[in-house]
Amino acid sequence: MFFKHLCLWIVNFLYPPRCPICKAQVEEAHCLCPECYKQLNFITNPCCQICGRPFEYKGLNDLICGACMKKVPAYSMARSVLEYDDFSKQLILAYKHGDRTDLTPILIKFLLQAESVIFQDVDVIIPVPLHWTRFLKRRYNQSSLLGKALGKKLKIPFSSNLLKRVRMTESQGTKNRRAREKNIKNAFRVPNPDAVRGMKILLIDDVMTTGATLQECAKTLKKAGAKDIKVITLYRVIRL
Ligand SMILES: [Zn+2]
Ligand SMILES: [Zn+2]
Repeated sequence: MFFKHLCLWIVNFLYPPRCPICKAQVEEAHCLCPECYKQLNFITNPCCQICGRPFEYKGLNDLICGACMKKVPAYSMARSVLEYDDFSKQLILAYKHGDRTDLTPILIKFLLQAESVIFQDVDVIIPVPLHWTRFLKRRYNQSSLLGKALGKKLKIPFSSNLLKRVRMTESQGTKNRRAREKNIKNAFRVPNPDAVRGMKILLIDDVMTTGATLQECAKTLKKAGAKDIKVITLYRVIRL
């Protein structure tokens, strides 16, 4: 124990922990500096009880948003932690495209700030899969890394084999909601329906934009016999 503490002290002395955004020295590893932390916009209640979209009027509680009333999602509940904006996106862009997989612990800390009910009564955590060609290019799936670490922390099994992306889709980037839904349709497949039958699943992704991808994943899993799908994302785009 003493040896472990000594090693940690030496490592901290030689490589003092730094804020992953502004690089200022911080006291504890895997933390943002107070200045950067202050600039993050956390998504707070009240929000739609199904999709988790925050309501602008703070007096609204236990309500469902217009979009969910019009068309009930295939997932029973979705929650996101941070608003996706020019400042907050620096973390996930570094994670996805800058090989900064060392950011996993800090991103997990943020994920765990979501309403705890999202993590309850879950049999398995599943990431939104990448198509294998994209996987080869990037060498890892950011949602998979997050899901695995989250599962370890919460002692919930994790599996990246239950849902596969069978169709290469165009980037959802510039598309509107309807075009996104069309683009992603039938992009996923459950290779072994027996493995998901009756399961309560937590789907994980980094960013929720219109929710079209997560809706398609949830629909595919439900069709294969899954009992319940919940969704957790680190970020949400609030204004398109
Ligand atoms: Zn900072
Ligand atoms: Zn909603």
